Amino acid sequence: TIVDAKAEIEKLKNPNCAEDDIFFQAMEEVLLSIFPLFKSDEVYSKNAKNAVIRRLITPDRVIKFKVVWMDDNNEVQVNTGYRVQFNNALGPYKGGLRFHPSVNEGILKFLGFEQILKNALTGLPLGGAKGGSDFDPKGKSDFEVMKFCKAFMRELYKHIGPRIDVPAGDIGVGGREIGYLFGEYKRMTSAFEGVLTGKPFFFGGSLMRPEATGYGVVYFTRKMLELDGKESLEGKVCTVSGSGNVALHAIEKLQQLGANPVTCTDSKGMIYDARGLDLALLKELKFVRRTSLEEYAKVHPEAAYTPVSEYPEGAHAVWDIPCYAAFPCATQNELNKKDAENLVKNGCVSVSEGANMPSTTEAIDLMLKNKICLAPAKAANAGGVAVSGFEMSQNAAMQRWSFAKVDVKLQETMEEICENVASTAKEFGVEGNYVVGANIAGFKRVADAMIAEGV
Ligand code: GLU
Repeated sequence: TIVDAKAEIEKLKNPNCAEDDIFFQAMEEVLLSIFPLFKSDEVYSKNAKNAVIRRLITPDRVIKFKVVWMDDNNEVQVNTGYRVQFNNALGPYKGGLRFHPSVNEGILKFLGFEQILKNALTGLPLGGAKGGSDFDPKGKSDFEVMKFCKAFMRELYKHIGPRIDVPAGDIGVGGREIGYLFGEYKRMTSAFEGVLTGKPFFFGGSLMRPEATGYGVVYFTRKMLELDGKESLEGKVCTVSGSGNVALHAIEKLQQLGANPVTCTDSKGMIYDARGLDLALLKELKFVRRTSLEEYAKVHPEAAYTPVSEYPEGAHAVWDIPCYAAFPCATQNELNKKDAENLVKNGCVSVSEGANMPSTTEAIDLMLKNKICLAPAKAANAGGVAVSGFEMSQNAAMQRWSFAKVDVKLQETMEEICENVASTAKEFGVEGNYVVGANIAGFKRVADAMIAEGV
């Protein structure tokens, strides 16, 4: 039975396409862990099992297009745009757009696949997708970002719609980019509709969407620690990686709950401020000035700045800072086996994944073996897409919800996901294993829908 899953993955592997490695990493992590669901033929017949796996691991379609735009020197620039519409068994395709030089089809297939299960866990009617471009917003002028976004949307608009596919932000795509993309969609179609989420509030966005992923990770962690009988986050030292939307809002919520987040990172280095982070300064540096964390240490010389070149060999400095709870909120594969060993050595109790697949497979195994409470990304960071779902509801009903209403619904959603994942793990004989619990709970909801909808 489970060998069938492995065989199906093997069949799909193209030895000439190294780009797909990360996609297979994500797929194997899920398919090999849902073994308890597939052990007997009770839940699904053998035929249904094989068919549903084969259907689920192949994207419905991969749209790839050329994006041509002019930079500020009037030079023509060419990038590649993508939208991977992975699965719409549960609802319209839904998932972010990533603008980063590392973007390729393999990364977007991995992210799209994760998104299917994450969206399923929210309990909302949302399918899974992901898109983006190898365009690098870093160092680009505001005008260049606008021209790129417009050129990108001039192709993408043909493939999306409020009941078809609703993109949002991800790395490199925030409120500014969503605004430019939304404006161009409106110009192309004359339709003012909820075709993108993460819009600025004054033209159709939801309050709390910017905060949602980071706050959601902390709400999830609070519930997980409670269910596992661990001490709460209050008064505890926490380490966070990243300094984007997810990381800074996780830091904000941790501070509000009385925890002490002491680190954050960017592509160039790490800030460690044992007295507690100056969040207002971090927001100014990252959201307004869009500059490096090195500037933080210039304002606060007591804080330590470690450039990437001084990280210990084969590890990330941030995971060697002793903490009660760790929050990887930067990017994929940022927490490896060595990092996991350091976390265990320093007595870390919980690791909550704010980024998508931040831990490598070996790191996950090591953390689980050492009884770290591990909140997997597809459950822990589902708050972002959940509030995107709330934004779609508000747009469809031409309504605006208050901050307090969204916050209550976000907390309920994160707590429900946590309880569902914990009880699924228990039901399938792996109590306390949130990784397997999330994979089974998400997979089952999508598989049930696919089977019920027929071929
Ligand atoms: N990019 C986010 C994620 O990874 C949000 C997606 C959305 O809101 O559609 O879940």
